Amino acid sequence: MIVVMNPEATKEQIDRVIDLIHHMDLKEHVIQGTELTVVAVIGEDHKKEPSQFETLPGVQKAMRVLEPYKLASKKFKKERSTVTIGESCVIGGKDIAVIAGPCSVESEEQIIKSAHIVKEAGATALRGGAFKPRTNPYSFQGHGEDGLKMLAAAREATGLPIVTEVMTPTDVALVSRYADCLQIGTRNAQNYKLLEAAGDQPKPVLFKRGMAMTIDEFLQAADYILAAGNPNVILCERGIRTFEKFSRNTYSLSAIVELHHRTHLPVVGDPSHGTGHAHLVPDMAKATLACGADGLALEVHHDPPHAWSDGAQSLNPQQFAELMPLLARVAESVDRSLPLPQAVGQ
Ligand code: PEP
Ligand code: MN
Repeated sequence: MIVVMNPEATKEQIDRVIDLIHHMDLKEHVIQGTELTVVAVIGEDHKKEPSQFETLPGVQKAMRVLEPYKLASKKFKKERSTVTIGESCVIGGKDIAVIAGPCSVESEEQIIKSAHIVKEAGATALRGGAFKPRTNPYSFQGHGEDGLKMLAAAREATGLPIVTEVMTPTDVALVSRYADCLQIGTRNAQNYKLLEAAGDQPKPVLFKRGMAMTIDEFLQAADYILAAGNPNVILCERGIRTFEKFSRNTYSLSAIVELHHRTHLPVVGDPSHGTGHAHLVPDMAKATLACGADGLALEVHHDPPHAWSDGAQSLNPQQFAELMPLLARVAESVDRSLPLPQAVGQ
């Protein structure tokens, strides 16, 4: 942390800053510039608040110079981490992971059909919500545990591992029993009790960026899961809220690049929620892989106009099947690979 003094700060005011640093059992290093004085705080200061210094007279501002997150940081672990969902879906290695499926689990028939559709096109995991965080309280809220059972049946039928959202700490044990990977959605990205609960169970976590979260906040939130003991965190960029209205969210490709720059954790992109419109999804999915993402989360519905949620942003089976070989070509161009089933690859 550094404390920047006002240009007219007196020696007494600088001494009061140094006294507070000593009171915190830390040391100081005073840098006397021609314009102003900066006091560097030396030692384990990560639990101290810069704002404590800002209450002292003569202080212009105080700020951290080190990243506020630790376990997610590349400084903590240099090599990229891989996370495996189920037995076979590795995220963060050379192969690209594609987590695809409907927004909501609607019925057993629907989710099994969806699982076959996405698997035949080359998806590596099945997504589908049983607990749905809906903006409108009167919208379909998900089938809950029955939905989890339907997902388990789809896994049984296709072998695809399942990724599904958990919304409350009390549901974590239940969802963890059925799912291969727990999703924490954008609305819960700063629900720290939920993050801790997800950190205290064995399944990997697909952690979606909060719609109003900075990258710094996102990585600090990821540290909650990691610090609770779960190293298997996959970060997911899914767009943030801005003033722009043409897309549901503003999907940030540079966030994907920046996350890889700062963290060892695997990073995937979700252009379905990122854009909100099916016509934008294929190109943004390609762009997601081109900028180095380790995988994609895509909404695919067998009949989007009749989807119970997020139909407008869902690809239909044909659109998804046509997109996958194109994604494989993009993956290859950035030294990754997206292995497709024989029938699709030909
Ligand atoms: C979802 O994946 O269906 C979902 C609700 O995502 P998000 O939390 O990113 O809105
Ligand atoms: Mn959705």
